[in-house]
Amino acid sequence: MQIGCHGLVWTGSNDPESFEQAVTKTLAAGFDLFEMALFDPETFDVDAAREILAKHPVAVSASMGQSRESDPNSEDPAQVKAGEAKLLKAIDVLEALGSRYFVGALYSELRKFMRPATAKERANAVGVIQTAADRAADAGITLGMEVINRYETNLFNTGRGTLQFLDEVDRPNVGVHLDTYHMNIEESDMAQPVEDCIDRLVYVHIGESHRGYLGSGNVDFDTFFKALVRSGYDGPITFESFSSAVVHKDLSGMLGIWRNLWDDSEDLGAHANAFIRGHLRAAQTIALH
Ligand code: MN
Repeated sequence: MQIGCHGLVWTGSNDPESFEQAVTKTLAAGFDLFEMALFDPETFDVDAAREILAKHPVAVSASMGQSRESDPNSEDPAQVKAGEAKLLKAIDVLEALGSRYFVGALYSELRKFMRPATAKERANAVGVIQTAADRAADAGITLGMEVINRYETNLFNTGRGTLQFLDEVDRPNVGVHLDTYHMNIEESDMAQPVEDCIDRLVYVHIGESHRGYLGSGNVDFDTFFKALVRSGYDGPITFESFSSAVVHKDLSGMLGIWRNLWDDSEDLGAHANAFIRGHLRAAQTIALH
């Protein structure tokens, strides 16, 4: 089981200097996996990243949300095509880095929609994910459809809703990506979605209700980790946190990161690594008996 850390804990940029800092700090905090925010696959410096990873070996995954110009969840063919192109470019980057997971809101722009998705928008999103999944399969990459809250997409907001979308996509290398921050908003409890989705669960984000230090908010982590361990889940688990102290030019605005919940990334990361591993270890002691 890999325990990882999202890049925005360390930096809001993917330039080589920031990438190296994020990788070394991820390792220093005790994590096994670095999840980069791959919003810029077209300009990402793959050669520099490969050199850095040769010096500091760590598993790499990526997450991303689509934008207004590249939205598969649209009736505009240009937006849909751009959304597909962005995914294919990102998969090229991830293949070159030996990544196995590409996750997030790959299927939709991250924003507040003012109405439900139309049948055509949904079909376009399904088609883009099918095309990306077929390319990802050639690269040995699994796609995780992150289940996000109603204020960030209108396609699906719960684990069960995501299973319906996966049925429409109908590709074996596409699965569910649960995030405790979003579950805390949309689900009835923190165990049922794990039980509902376990056969298709491929990736997990651990985030607190206010996106800050784990254990300082409302998320019922005890119930979640017990459900995760009881289910036998053994895929990646990644810590995700945001503060106005580390800003990404697009993502921080889309997610509404206006508050400064921490300044010390190193302390935050080490705390999260210990928190996640500690909760897993505690849950494992009762799952065995
Ligand atoms: Mn997330």
